[in-house]
Amino acid sequence: MSETNRLNIISEEILHCQKCPLAKGRKNAVPGEGPSSVDIMFIGEGPGYHENQQGKPFVGQAGAFLDELLAAANLKREDVFITNVVKCRPPGNRDPMPEELAACANYLDEQIALLDPKVIVTLGRFSMAKFIDNAKISRIHGQAHQVGKRLIVTMYHPAAALHQPALRPALIEDFSKLPQLLGKEAAVQPKLETPVQPKAEALEPETKSVQKQEKTSPPEQLSLF
Ligand code: SF4
Repeated sequence: MSETNRLNIISEEILHCQKCPLAKGRKNAVPGEGPSSVDIMFIGEGPGYHENQQGKPFVGQAGAFLDELLAAANLKREDVFITNVVKCRPPGNRDPMPEELAACANYLDEQIALLDPKVIVTLGRFSMAKFIDNAKISRIHGQAHQVGKRLIVTMYHPAAALHQPALRPALIEDFSKLPQLLGKEAAVQPKLETPVQPKAEALEPETKSVQKQEKTSPPEQLSLF
């Protein structure tokens, strides 16, 4: 069976999943989207209001900002895979509960195993905590860590930068380093638009600790950044 078909099967399972209480309040589960062969994968936290409405990851204001950031890194959305650690929206954008994260973890693990990306960019603290224990994102954002056979690059969530404009330059700078990791030329930095204030539903949920998974060896910070 091809990777595309296997990814589609995982997506179908997610769309009908009832494994945790988040299934009850969702309009649409959001499996993630992107091609079946990618060098880089982006993992956020969970669907927000617009994602729940549309069944797509990173739409709305945070998604528009992510598109700008991808362009700054010479990346196109259609060339990367984008998903979240939980596939259904936590009510009111609250933090996902540990049992919800645990229930949903297999889907993400299967997606990672199938896609086998060289680089995973974590967007926000929950996805960071999946790979790196006891880290503060304010200290390690923009850093690349060797975890198993992959590079894990930790970044703020785009919605956090919409909520706190002071984080915006750091996020832009962190994204601008991605071409170096992927062996690509950096794009001419496009002019990014003036920050917009997000609606409440676009904001990143506050995060808590989460079990680390897929960590086959202690993370090693690289000297790239
Ligand atoms: S969040 Fe994950 S485990 Fe929970 S219902 Fe949705 S797909 Fe299933």
